[in-house]
Amino acid sequence: DDRMVQAEPMMGEQPDSTIRPLTLSEFVGQRQVRENLAIFIQAARGRSEALDHVLFFGPPGLGKTTLAQIVSRELGVGFRSTSGPVIARAGDLAALLTNLQPHDVLFIDEIHRLSPAVEEILYPAMEDFQLDLIIGEGPAARSIKIDLPPFTLIGATTRSGLITRPLRERFGIPLRLQFYEPDELELIVSRAARVLDLNLTSDGAAEIALRSRGTPRVAGRLLRRVRDFAAVAGDTAVDAAAADAALNRLEVDRLGLDGMDRRYLGCIAGNYAGGPVGVETLAAALGEQRDVLEEVVEPYLIQQGMLQRTPRGRMLTDGGFRYLGLSVPQIPAR
Ligand code: ADP
Repeated sequence: DDRMVQAEPMMGEQPDSTIRPLTLSEFVGQRQVRENLAIFIQAARGRSEALDHVLFFGPPGLGKTTLAQIVSRELGVGFRSTSGPVIARAGDLAALLTNLQPHDVLFIDEIHRLSPAVEEILYPAMEDFQLDLIIGEGPAARSIKIDLPPFTLIGATTRSGLITRPLRERFGIPLRLQFYEPDELELIVSRAARVLDLNLTSDGAAEIALRSRGTPRVAGRLLRRVRDFAAVAGDTAVDAAAADAALNRLEVDRLGLDGMDRRYLGCIAGNYAGGPVGVETLAAALGEQRDVLEEVVEPYLIQQGMLQRTPRGRMLTDGGFRYLGLSVPQIPAR
């Protein structure tokens, strides 16, 4: 089955594998998550057991996949990777599970997108390391049980709200990732620059870090673009001024907001008087996918205190109006 190619062991064939941290101690930030993982890993190793199932929540690009790989490496077990939408049928998951070695890590990205039929198979697999399969159809159908090796499921999701309760409850170790602090991102950017052989001053690294939406993936992307500008300009070193110039040309502002963020905020202010407005309406007005708004755009704006999610829809905060340079509308309008 072609789809199974997704489930091959991944040993850093990503283009960015060179800057991916390989151990927990190399992993910057998320201190609480790291400390907890270190303890649970040590305990599982001490008992020679599979680590309990782990669920990572958090916006894209914060390091969920990276941490899953690190966990398998620190456990000294194999790593298999797939994602929710790729597992179309129960049989696909069964094939993956029966091919695991004892204590292996199976990583399922976007686990909130598993189909209900596949999720059903997963419950007994997670709980009792058993597969309950129905073979055949109609009167000839019978159910068989297959024992699985003990394994660790690591799920990742950007949307904790979309994961079903029975699935969520089967993860013994739920961990929420936070946006990174500027000093953490600065360290990540400096290390990445060294790997890329780019002469980046520490104030240059700080400038990129401040404008990376608290997200290592964004930091990596901005660093590469800054490097491009520097290369074309013939600069040998990149300092804060050079980084600032490049980031301005990319339309990333001092707070890390980009064109999409500004259109989003401007739309709520200009078309909906600051809200509340439903996310579907916003998606249609902006010509963007709802998922992108909910997973990528909104979390950072909420964290920056510019936006609120309310039961009646999205609302700009006072900070959101101020960011746009608008005066804050007075009650009773809001
Ligand atoms: P997610 O799975 O949450 O979307 P990834 O694990 O794919 O995020 O990480 C996105 C990028 O950011 C990768 O290039 C990864 O190497 C880098 N990255 C993430 N977290 C860190 C970190 N703590 N330190 C260094 N690089 C990181």
